[in-house]
Order: sequence, then structure tokens, then C-alpha cells
Amino acid sequence: MGRAMLSGMTSVATPPRVLDGIAIAAEIKSEVALRVATARSAGYQPGLAVVLVGDVPASQIYVRSKVKTCAELGIYSEMHTPTATATTEELLALVDSLNRNDAIDGILIQLPLPGHVDTARLLEAVTPAKDVDGFHPINAGRLLSGAPDEQVLAPCTPAGILEILRRSQIPVAGARAVVLGRSNIVGKPVAAMLINASATVTVCHSKTRDLAGITREADILVAAIGRAGYVTAEMVRPGATLIDVGINRIDTEAELNRFFPGDAVRHESFLMRGSTLVGDIDPAAFAVSGAFTPVPGGVGALTIAMLMSNTVKAARLRRTGS
Ligand code: NAP
Repeated sequence: MGRAMLSGMTSVATPPRVLDGIAIAAEIKSEVALRVATARSAGYQPGLAVVLVGDVPASQIYVRSKVKTCAELGIYSEMHTPTATATTEELLALVDSLNRNDAIDGILIQLPLPGHVDTARLLEAVTPAKDVDGFHPINAGRLLSGAPDEQVLAPCTPAGILEILRRSQIPVAGARAVVLGRSNIVGKPVAAMLINASATVTVCHSKTRDLAGITREADILVAAIGRAGYVTAEMVRPGATLIDVGINRIDTEAELNRFFPGDAVRHESFLMRGSTLVGDIDPAAFAVSGAFTPVPGGVGALTIAMLMSNTVKAARLRRTGS
């Protein structure tokens, strides 16, 4: 909690805890490397295929860091780079060949795909056993039905959030959790995972009435709406745990001064790059929290580690059946 009661009547504010996503991701990656070594001594090497369609620069950066992390952890990887003109049928044929390739345990289709490609059809064509992004309706259904963690391929960002909470000893069972956002990638799956972990969960979205009244009741507040600094200090219960999923680039001095007044490090990096990142939670709200994930260096840092973890899990489930 951000405020501790000392003896007598004095209430003293304690600084909020920074939930360091980079350190937690490093811990998970070193555990994954050990699991890869165990798999290799059992006679198989987990393998990931990454499909990158076209030339989206941001996607190229993400894909490169996924392939690099595979190499660091001993996971086999291969990259497929169809051109932006590839048809849905051609991409379905590629997915079909990866589904049947025994060296491949995980298939990742980097989003977004070009507009003419039927994204839903392609994602559903990935066999659920190799769906390391956890987007297939079968895996979404397994998650919702409360199947044991070790049997489910859950989406990486929500899975990373649960790892942050667990490894930071934030109590989830019985906690009041509020999730802002209901996307299939973050909001809905993280709500399902929090329910499975026995939190009492409220999911809010753009039509929610009295949002601030609901967020103020949260012991754990997960913000995944894609709006720079939308959650203000007044919307937060003092001592709450704040999980900031949002990644918003700001490039005006007015925004910089609003969110990071007097923050010399931010101002310097803004001057160098012409922009900086802010989450969905106003950094001023972090000051009243008990613990929070920073942006950058919080939730975002976990996503690749969880992808690696899912690949090793998929390999184990597919090859050993348990
Ligand atoms: P999304 O698909 O655009 O969904 C946004 C959700 O927020 C929608 O459910 C929307 O409600 C809700 N919303 C928007 N404005 C709102 C408001 N004013 N009040 C309440 N709810 C509001 O976004 P997403 O893919 O879930 O991503 C959300 C954020 O997380 C983005 O900033 C994204 O970049 C980031 N993200 C980060 C990671 C990571 O690794 N850290 C991974 C994925 C996403 P409606 O449904 O009513 O429209």
C-alpha cells in the first residue's frame, strides 16, 4: 500500500513500488532457457515460425527482436516474409505447411496484415496446438473455461500481466480488479485470467457510465484503452496496483509538460527523439498508487518473454501430451 499507518495516529506516505517489467522478463527468459535445455536433452528443440507479410517498419523491428530472442534462448526459429501482395489463399497455404511441419511448435503471424488479407480466417487456420499468440477461438474458449494454466496457450500480453502480479506478490484472489478496455487481445483475456485467479472483475469500455466511480474501487486497475494519460490521480484509489498496458507516443511539448513536468530525463530524451511514450495512466496517478508498471519498461517488456514461454509450452504439450 502507498500509505502505511505507523504507531499512534500518524499516516505516512510510502513511495509506490515500481513493478519492473524488464527484470521480470529477464527472470522468465532465463527459466525458458532452462526449459529449452531440458527439452533438448529429451530429444527435441522447440521451434517458432514467424510470418511477416509486407514491409511495415514497426513490424520488422518486432519480428527481428522475436527471432533474436529465440536464438538467445536456444529456440529454433524461421522467418517467412511473403510480399504485401500475397493473397489470403497463398498465406493459408503457408500456414498449412507450417501446421504440418514437425520442426515448428509455434506459429506467429505478425499483425497488422495488409487490408486485402482476411485476418480472422488466417488466424483461425493456425492449428490451436501451435497458436502461441493465443488468438484462436479454441484457445480463447479454453481460457474462458478455466482450463489449468499449464494446458492453455493464453495471449502473451495478458499472460505477462498475470506474471507481473504473481512475481510481485500482489494478492489477486479476492481483490477487486477493474479492466479498462474489452479488446480480444488484451481486455477480455486479462479479465478472464483475473477471474480464473479469483479476483472480482469489472470490465469497462467506451460506453461505461461513471467510469471514475468504478476505477476508484479497484485494488488492481488494468488500463488498456490506447489513450495517453487518460486515467488521472482522481480516478485511482490510494494504494491501488496500477497496470498500464497503453503505449502512446506523444510528440508535442504541451503533452510532454503535462505528463512529465520537471522530469529532466524525459525532457532530454524528448529533445533527442522528438517524441516519448506515455501509457494510458497519467504518471501523476502513479504517485498515489501502491505499485505500478512504468511505460516503457513495464507490461510491454513481458510480451516477447511470454511468447518464448508459450513456444516451449506448445512444444511440450504437442510432443509429450502433458
Ligand atoms: P483496442 O483494440 O483499440 O481497444 C481499446 C479498448 O478501450 C476498447 O474496448 C474501447 O472500448 C476502450 N476504450 C477506448 N476509449 C475508452 C474510454 N475513453 N473509456 C473507456 N474505455 C475506452 O486496443 P488494444 O489492442 O486492447 O490496446 C490498448 C492499448 O494497449 C494500446 O495503447 C496498445 O498500444 C496497447 N498494447 C500494449 C501491448 C503491450 O505489449 N504492452 C500489447 C497490446 C496492446 P469500445 O470497445 O467500447 O470501443
